[in-house]
Amino acid sequence: ECIGIDAGGTLIKVVYKERDEYLYQTFLSNEVEKLVKWINEWHPNAKLKITGGKQENISKLLHNPHELIDEFEATTIGIKEVLKRAELYLPEKYLLVNVGTGTSIHSMIGENSERLGGSGIGGGTLMGLSYLLTRQKQFEEIMLLAEKGKRTGIDLKVRDIYEGDRSPISGDLTASNFGFLERMTGEELQEDILACLVGMISEAVLMMVMPFAKAIESSTIVFIGSTFHNNALFKKQLQRFEDLFELKLHFPFNGQYSGAHGALLY
Ligand code: ATP
Ligand code: MG
Repeated sequence: ECIGIDAGGTLIKVVYKERDEYLYQTFLSNEVEKLVKWINEWHPNAKLKITGGKQENISKLLHNPHELIDEFEATTIGIKEVLKRAELYLPEKYLLVNVGTGTSIHSMIGENSERLGGSGIGGGTLMGLSYLLTRQKQFEEIMLLAEKGKRTGIDLKVRDIYEGDRSPISGDLTASNFGFLERMTGEELQEDILACLVGMISEAVLMMVMPFAKAIESSTIVFIGSTFHNNALFKKQLQRFEDLFELKLHFPFNGQYSGAHGALLY
């Protein structure tokens, strides 16, 4: 019996097979004792295939036989299984963007993959800035609030600068995230602040990955990572750019388990 474990900066993702079916589990990285208990109780003899930044940390806490696997290899192997299971058939060439605690960008060209770059702007940025701005710490709560928020009055749009005049780009585009100081009262609602934060992170990630998509001459971008798990707002914010930039964006089901799938298959 084998178990694939992707121990990331924030979440530990687990994939294993029982009666020919994949089963999934998630633990918080700062509650690693729960993972240890779960393995000791239910899978004491399983071989663990561990990837992610906290792989060493976890391997030291368990007595199971184990193998450590490179995070980027695991992710790029695992995405293929995730896409197959999601019945998502993509072109030979696409950009893979993992928005985890931080963000990592990979080119996928046939059988070859390469890490092209990354950014510190990711799911961790959402969590940290949410806390600093609103004192909210729960991912689900943050996203529920953000879904209810508006972006007018905090974000400065192109039309807010051009006012009545014709602008060279769509007036609906953001001219300056959190830039509408003139309108700010200090009484901004948490839900509006969080909506703007999700907007800023989505826009920053998209603008950062676009040149990479251009460089590999692909318009297909696949987003994975738990930041998008169950997260309609992030998807909606990103999808606004599909037509404008002629992109095709995908958010495959169970994409957050790519690393764990890849480790298991390795
Ligand atoms: P990295 O790959 O950068 O080391 P990771 O693998 O832990 O990190 P993911 O699990 O893909 O990263 O995504 C973590 C992000 O997912 C968090 O920063 C947060 O925005 C979001 N998230 C989703 N669900 C939760 C949750 N229950 N608790 C905390 N964060 C969550
Ligand atoms: Mg990760």
